[in-house]
Parts: sequence; C-alpha cells; structure tokens
Amino acid sequence: MGTLQLEVVTPDKTVVSGEVEMAVCPGIEGEFGVLPKHVSLLSALKIGGLRYRTGGKDEHVFISGGFADVNNDVLTVLAESAELADSIDTARAMAAKERAEKRIAGHDEKVDMTRAEAALQRAIVRLQLAQLR
Ligand code: ATP
Repeated sequence: MGTLQLEVVTPDKTVVSGEVEMAVCPGIEGEFGVLPKHVSLLSALKIGGLRYRTGGKDEHVFISGGFADVNNDVLTVLAESAELADSIDTARAMAAKERAEKRIAGHDEKVDMTRAEAALQRAIVRLQLAQLR
C-alpha cells in the first residue's frame, strides 16, 4: 500500500520526521485522515492531537494549530509548538491550565480573553494526550 512521509516542524525543531502508514490531523473543520496516495491538500489546523501509525503502533503528537500540507505522499505539518505525547510535561500543563483559568475567571479588562482561552485549550489538550501514552 506504500507509505507516507510525515514531517512535523515548529520554528525551533523537527518533532517528527519519518515514514508512517497513516495520520489523522486536527483540522479546523474536523479531523481528517491521510493515507498514502492522498490527493493534494492544504488545511488549517486547530489545537489538538495528531495521531499517526508506524509499525502498526499509534503515536500521538500535540499540535498548537498551524497548517497541514499533503503533496506526493509527504504530509508536512507546520505548527507554532508541537511535542510528542511522551515528552509532555504534565506538571507544566497543569500549571498553565490553572494560570489560564484564573485569568479567565478574573474578569480583568486588561486580560486578552482569546489568548487566555487558547492557552487553556493547549493545556487541556496536552493533559488529554499525556493520558494516552
Ligand atoms: P506554557 O505557559 O507552559 O509555556 P504554552 O501553551 O504557552 O505553555 P507554547 O507557547 O505552546 O506553551 O510552547 C512553548 C514551548 O514550550 C514549545 O517548545 C512547546 O513544545 C513547549 N511546551 C509547552 N508546554 C509544554 C508541556 N506541558 N510539556 C512539554 N513541552 C511544553
């Protein structure tokens, strides 16, 4: 059936680079799967988990949103931040979640609510993905 090359890249590092059997991406309009021979596609991603299968085993990666590009059996994901579920620091995510919840509950006009809600969402998804490892 062939394979797909997956590249998950952030401004600081390459988080995943390798051949996979399939991947499921957190598209802004819902999850979508990518198999070998997929048509070319460019999609915006939301904060979520990207799942991929390699050697028959599922792996999960946190994605802070960004873009997925599929072309000629290469799936490239560009994200502001990403980490493998195995390298998620749970204590850090819990602290980030608490900070964001306090900001949101504080009703302070100076707080950027959109930013606080995005930080909360990142922390919630990191904690969910850490449970899957
Ligand atoms: P924090 O407030 O804890 O920095 P954040 O959601 O604002 O969380 P990001 O801006 O998404 O953090 O990421 C900044 C960098 O820190 C990225 O390299 C990201 O991979 C890493 N990072 C953030 N939170 C965690 C975590 N809980 N475990 C592992 N790496 C993390």
